[in-house]
Amino acid sequence: MAAFDLGCMAEYNADPGHVKGVCGVRFIYVLTTILLLTALLVTLVSAQMTWHLITVWYEGWEQLQELESQGLQIINYQGNILAALSEEEQIWRLRQAGFEVRVLDAAADPDLYYLAYPPQGRDDLFSASPSDLEAVYPYAEGVYIVKARRVAAEALTSHEVQIVKLPRSVSLGRSEPAPARWQNDLAYSPDIRAMVDVVSPTLLIDHVCKLQDDDSQSYCNELGTRHSYATAALDEAARYLHNQYAAMGLNVAYQPFPYAGYVMNNVVAELPGAGPNREHIYILCAHYDSTARDSSSIAPGADDNASGSAAVLEAARILSQFSFDRTIRFVHFAGEEQGMLGSQRYAETAAQRGDLIAGVINLDMIAYERVPPNDHIVEIHAGMNPVSIALADVFVSNIAEYELLLLPEILTSTATSRSDHGSFWNQGYPAILGIEDFGGDFNPYYHSTRDTLTHIQTHMMVEYTKACVATLAELAGDPRSSSVLIYLPVLGVLR
Ligand SMILES: [Zn+2]
Repeated sequence: MAAFDLGCMAEYNADPGHVKGVCGVRFIYVLTTILLLTALLVTLVSAQMTWHLITVWYEGWEQLQELESQGLQIINYQGNILAALSEEEQIWRLRQAGFEVRVLDAAADPDLYYLAYPPQGRDDLFSASPSDLEAVYPYAEGVYIVKARRVAAEALTSHEVQIVKLPRSVSLGRSEPAPARWQNDLAYSPDIRAMVDVVSPTLLIDHVCKLQDDDSQSYCNELGTRHSYATAALDEAARYLHNQYAAMGLNVAYQPFPYAGYVMNNVVAELPGAGPNREHIYILCAHYDSTARDSSSIAPGADDNASGSAAVLEAARILSQFSFDRTIRFVHFAGEEQGMLGSQRYAETAAQRGDLIAGVINLDMIAYERVPPNDHIVEIHAGMNPVSIALADVFVSNIAEYELLLLPEILTSTATSRSDHGSFWNQGYPAILGIEDFGGDFNPYYHSTRDTLTHIQTHMMVEYTKACVATLAELAGDPRSSSVLIYLPVLGVLR
């Protein structure tokens, strides 16, 4: 700029009348050039800075970890595909390194992404993307990434599309305690046998019955709801859970969290460890909210997921009569049906606190199979984290050790993250999901007003509860019986 001014002024001084026009033209020329160059620079820089939503194919857990350590901001991974937020330069480097990268959204907005799972065979729901969704991107098999505002994303659930809000980033692993016992170290224990044997089918059924109940009707009717937006009914269920733990003599607290103008509560109870490893925590959890078509309809949710909630309560009743080396927490989440809200909040808080969570067993829909064939097949979703797989191995070994009537299949690369264990995976904690035969023999009354006690098979819930009791007693370690029996089950109507 300075050199130009001098030159122009010099020429102007020499011959003002002649040079004026030439100088003006040159001035405009140079100014235009500068403006163009600036615009180009801004474009280049902003292209560099713009976040892109991308997918990357990878081979296995180790390669995934490598990508994370190189600074890739992963927001989800399933099987062999991941979704990430990335800049141009990083995409270029990934491609240089031989990765198959697909750019889904060149102007990413990390706050607007949801995973969307249409019901089986209903991919057509997205073939013409509804106008209130900003975009729909095919992702993994049977899973889409939807870009939408919250209300539009939630509207999908009325078409039986399950949604999961994607976080801004996930963490793959922490330097957490390894499982207390590995599969090879397992040994039969008469103490554990005794705990397994006192799992009560009567109490389990009673919990399911109470949770699906509605106060305005007679006891154990089928007109209840625990929909996340049915505030009073959901709070009543939370209170029921809270009272049960208080009666067991456990420390129990609500973890409230706001969402969409509502306040929902997780219910968290703890059996503190009594040994040198008391800082290590095992969690048994289940969501207690339910859904049907919409928030105003009946949503008894017996299988989904009063069954899992009942198992957590019953396991706690038995385990709380002992003390263990490590801490065990019993956690019930709200807002699962709106995208794992409760567990997301819980796992994030736990990670921020630095909780040493050594393993999580999440139960979701554990009480249905077709009869006949009565094949007892259940799925244990472990994912690809080796510590989660080790946890699944311990769970399955205990099923064999205590001769439980379950035929478990462990899923790794085909595991789903569409329940609350996924929130723990996102924070790098080892976790597994226990569920009925999701792939082959799934509850046909799922998310309907007919998901009631009359349509579930309680034997599977009983066996699942036994497997949890055995696994947690094994992992928490060194069981000692409390000198006083602190909780006698209370049967009857809770009002
Ligand atoms: Zn569920």
